[in-house]
Amino acid sequence: MTVELISVGTEILLGNIVNTNAAYLSKQCADLGLSCYFQSVVGDNEERLGAVLGCAMERSDIVILSGGLGPTEDDLTKETAAKLCGRKLVTDEGWKEHIAEYFSTRGIEPTENNWKQAQVPEGAIVLDNPNGTAPGIIIEQEQARIILLPGPPGELMPLFENCVRPYLEKLDPGVLYSQTVKICGVGESLVETKVKDLIDSQTNPTIATYAKLGEVHVRVTAYAGDPKEAKKLTKPVVKELKSRFGADIYTTEEEVTLEKAVLDLLAANGLTLTCAESCTGGLLSARIVDVPGSSEVFKSGLVTYSNKAKRRLLGVKKATLQKYGAVSARTAEEMAKGAAYLSKCDVTVSVTGIAGPDGGTKDKPVGLVYIACNMKGKVTVKEYRFSGNREKVRQSAVAAALTLLHGCILEYISETEFRKK
Ligand code: ATP
Repeated sequence: MTVELISVGTEILLGNIVNTNAAYLSKQCADLGLSCYFQSVVGDNEERLGAVLGCAMERSDIVILSGGLGPTEDDLTKETAAKLCGRKLVTDEGWKEHIAEYFSTRGIEPTENNWKQAQVPEGAIVLDNPNGTAPGIIIEQEQARIILLPGPPGELMPLFENCVRPYLEKLDPGVLYSQTVKICGVGESLVETKVKDLIDSQTNPTIATYAKLGEVHVRVTAYAGDPKEAKKLTKPVVKELKSRFGADIYTTEEEVTLEKAVLDLLAANGLTLTCAESCTGGLLSARIVDVPGSSEVFKSGLVTYSNKAKRRLLGVKKATLQKYGAVSARTAEEMAKGAAYLSKCDVTVSVTGIAGPDGGTKDKPVGLVYIACNMKGKVTVKEYRFSGNREKVRQSAVAAALTLLHGCILEYISETEFRKK
């Protein structure tokens, strides 16, 4: 079944309010297994609203409209929908009572135009809205089902949850189940290339890739009669992705972040962690500390921004700084080694780079970052060239540091297991 969303309101078109209703409704409809192919925003204008609604009714099974159910002249969603469906507006006595009670409990006298909200298209289903004076309305036409909801999210969301969801569930009992395969250290275009054949031949489940900063998520979504069946359908595709991306997949769990995956790996192997940061200024440590329970693994974070701090706190050699500069592979390596000496941690990671906007040269441009990971004495250093503004370079460096850590830990684990054999 297909669903289409129409958000009504000139405020949305002008950018005065953010269309959170569309985001909420899209998510809810996807969870219900409804396919949403179109969404529109239209101002408070009868002619244009009529045109959009007419078109939506022709191409979709269900049309959900939000906004424009208020008492004022410019609220004309209900009037336009009724006209298009060839239905008169009639007073709903039950809702008229609701309005009277709503105002009397608040000690306010309703104005004449408030009674307009008790008018509903003839034969429509009236949905109770305890948080406002406009009811939700469902008009069942042969062509499509039209659902009208008030604009304020505090009214729309409970109405959807309590009335619209059960109504839609009865119409189409199917469900969607999604599993996300999260990949780090592989660029979006390479991921796309590697799954292109799967995407091209997809029907059920479907596959979609989403680029995040330093990561790519591949979402596998299946539609079936019940959640168990839908989950079963996603399994072979997830298995195929695992065989294609191997250790670059850090999780297939929706709620697991890259930092959480890294911390879990460290904890499972009894390893402790310290960070030594320059251009990221503590961002890496902050992302790690965001994970509840990180204290088991994360012991310290040093922000060594100046050359002096790098020398005094981490023991970076003066000669290294003079010969190679603060932003160099050698400095990153010495930072990681110095952090290990100071903290006595098993794993240390260091970041040094040029976040910009100033400070770049031809040889060392803005975005140049070196990251080192010292895994029990084995140091891996990598050079990166990130693009974007200061914020993006710093965030990219954090994502890259976590990805490097992830790779180094996996390598350590496989080497240790190999030695045991
Ligand atoms: P009311 O009974 O308050 O008049 P209504 O159904 O007529 O409700 P609108 O007048 O269109 O709704 O919008 C009322 C308020 O609801 C807006 O000022 C805004 O705060 C919120 N709102 C409306 N549409 C949206 C939307 N698409 N996303 C988020 N908020 C919205």
